[in-house]
Amino acid sequence: MKTRITELFGIQHPIIQGGMQWVGRAELVSAVANAGALGFITALTQPTPEDLSKEIARTREMTDKPFGVNLTILPTLRPVPYEDYAQAIAESGVKIVETAGRSPEPFMPTFKAAGIKVIHKCTSVRHSVKAEAVGCDAVSVDGFECAGHPGEDDIPGLILLPCTADKISIPFIASGGFGDARGLVAALALGADGINMGSRFMCTKEAPIHNNVKQAMVDADERNTQLTNRQLRNTSRVFKNTVAGKVLEIEREKGADLKIEDLAEYLSGQRGRIVFEEGNVDHGIWSAGMVVGLINDIPSCAELVSRIVSGAEEIIAKRLAGLTGAAA
Ligand code: NAD
Repeated sequence: MKTRITELFGIQHPIIQGGMQWVGRAELVSAVANAGALGFITALTQPTPEDLSKEIARTREMTDKPFGVNLTILPTLRPVPYEDYAQAIAESGVKIVETAGRSPEPFMPTFKAAGIKVIHKCTSVRHSVKAEAVGCDAVSVDGFECAGHPGEDDIPGLILLPCTADKISIPFIASGGFGDARGLVAALALGADGINMGSRFMCTKEAPIHNNVKQAMVDADERNTQLTNRQLRNTSRVFKNTVAGKVLEIEREKGADLKIEDLAEYLSGQRGRIVFEEGNVDHGIWSAGMVVGLINDIPSCAELVSRIVSGAEEIIAKRLAGLTGAAA
């Protein structure tokens, strides 16, 4: 399947594994790349920019296909030296960056001077328009269904994707709620040039997280996620568990007086890291999208990518073409 995204990034399939804190490491990113899709190392999973450089080098040893690095710029509990991470990416020779959280404008000169293509993750039409204006090569349009940070507008993909298609001319990827062949065909029909999947790639053999987390996602249905952090205007969609329940309780109790300090102990990414390493799914907050309702197994990345692409081709050639009388 050739789309503007496969052409832009030199990849075989219009499927992307976007940034995921604690998950986007060499094992997963190289498996995604070797499957003909595009994977992203998550910069902030590495404790320092030097560690990020090493992780990029480690990934290179595991694949000769293109891959990228995600740089998420959101409020954090501890200060992050974003400039240094951006510099490490530019010096690494990686040619694709996914930015998220805030406009990538301040980093564009560094990335462009290094010949890097930038794809910015956006949760609204206005952010996509801005991303195009500041020179991004593509955007990843993240609907309300998504894991992690859906923004504050709560617009699902079915509306957000075609609204975006009407307003930008650069290629874009549909993100949030995608996990199978039906989603890929729907995304293409809505004007996107491919799909981004996070949660679905967490449930693969190569994802470097504890099997209990993968199994919890397989066992979950579409109602098993919850929003946190709304009052602080940094809404996050996470897997419903006891810590997420505790966060909700505090949010209700504090109401408009809520401060990040009230939640920090529970929200901390360090607790989420331990969930992924040790497999106690109730130990901390961890991101998951509504697509958990569509995840029923733990395939390899190659199996997953291949069945999505072949399934999509079949839907187009048989079901859709059949509706217009054009089926072979
Ligand atoms: P962290 O431990 O610093 O913070 C935990 C959570 O609290 C994050 O969602 C963060 O955005 C939020 N937060 C921190 N300070 C805040 C403030 N002052 N106001 C409002 N919200 C605040 O972060 P982490 O878990 O180590 O993650 C590092 C980065 O990766 C952050 O930018 C985070 O948002 C992002 N992240 C992305 C994903 C994903 O890819 N879906 C998942 C988790 C975290």
